[in-house]
Amino acid sequence: MLLAIDEQNKKILAEHATKEQNYRCPSCKNPLILKQGKIVTTHFAHYPAKKCFSFSEGESMDHIEGKKLLFRWLSSHYSTVELEAFLPQIQQRPDLYFENERKDKVCVEFQCSKLSSDEMLKRTLSYQRHNYSVWWILGPNSALKQDKISALQKLFVFPSHLGLSIARLNIFKEHLELINDFGYSSKEKLNWTETNFSLENSSPDLIFTQNPEAGQLKKFKRTDYLYTHHKYMKQIKYKNKNLLSLVEKLYRNRESLHTVSYLIYQSINYEWMIRNHPMEWKYDVLQIINKLPEAHIFSRKEFLTYIKELKLKYYDMPLVQDNMRTTVLFFFLDFLCLEGILTEINSNTWRKNKSVISYSNEGEKIKHLYLLSQQLC
Ligand SMILES: [Zn+2]
Repeated sequence: MLLAIDEQNKKILAEHATKEQNYRCPSCKNPLILKQGKIVTTHFAHYPAKKCFSFSEGESMDHIEGKKLLFRWLSSHYSTVELEAFLPQIQQRPDLYFENERKDKVCVEFQCSKLSSDEMLKRTLSYQRHNYSVWWILGPNSALKQDKISALQKLFVFPSHLGLSIARLNIFKEHLELINDFGYSSKEKLNWTETNFSLENSSPDLIFTQNPEAGQLKKFKRTDYLYTHHKYMKQIKYKNKNLLSLVEKLYRNRESLHTVSYLIYQSINYEWMIRNHPMEWKYDVLQIINKLPEAHIFSRKEFLTYIKELKLKYYDMPLVQDNMRTTVLFFFLDFLCLEGILTEINSNTWRKNKSVISYSNEGEKIKHLYLLSQQLC
């Protein structure tokens, strides 16, 4: 911990404390040890035998150091920043707490240790229910893997001006990294972008409270359809469980992966928000469009009522508003406009131009996919 009560009953930061004075814990009032050293960040700790109901011991050096950096950074932008403040109403102690000029109450959590999904959701929902916003910032041990972004990592996603992002603090370089633009390349590897904001020169408001710029969201990369087709054919051959429901659906409609349109292979920005298999919900959307009469004009609202039938399941993302979730479906409509299936009349209205056609056999499909993949190069 970085804050204690001194002999005059005043709050004091560890870096301003001296060995000559006695310090107590702001919560349990037990005496504290001041730990100073060349390697460690100056901090307070309880005596080993004293159990504290409020502070957990074994706080890592990364956590202490990061909290200190964030405290300095936030204090240079807001006048009311409190370290390790206890919020009695909800019995929680965020790492940092402040109110901004708009009187928003903001809690900042710097997460270095392992945290379960349940615990993260519980804490976040409790803040939100009591009208606190919460900024989650991940510590150094939160690297993304090459193949996917985990359900746990998705919990920390929030809408920054760069689009849906995860914030990570680099305590050595003293900058915040916004990790965003997660997407699968044509070869199905997870890609992302890291943008660094030095704490010295960046405002917290810019990073945490600005809405995504529309242009950031519409980026679009074409999938390698031939590669994707072969990949899924192989998965079906080995009876991959994730594809069972799609395979059954295709069968009921007298189709198969040999004949179904390549449009379901296209990966769409933010599709990692949806739990259903990406090919399956795209197939469902195409079925909905095929049922509409030709030249039918439909609104956003109408489309959303059709979508309700699909029973889409989303990952838990407590920092993302509900209306942002459906954006991924509208990105798919953007793609269908590009393919000439739909025409966008305005940002809320579309017209159906034609139905999506299936192939009559695999040979025809492969030939077409081959032509499309040539165009990629
Ligand atoms: Zn204590």
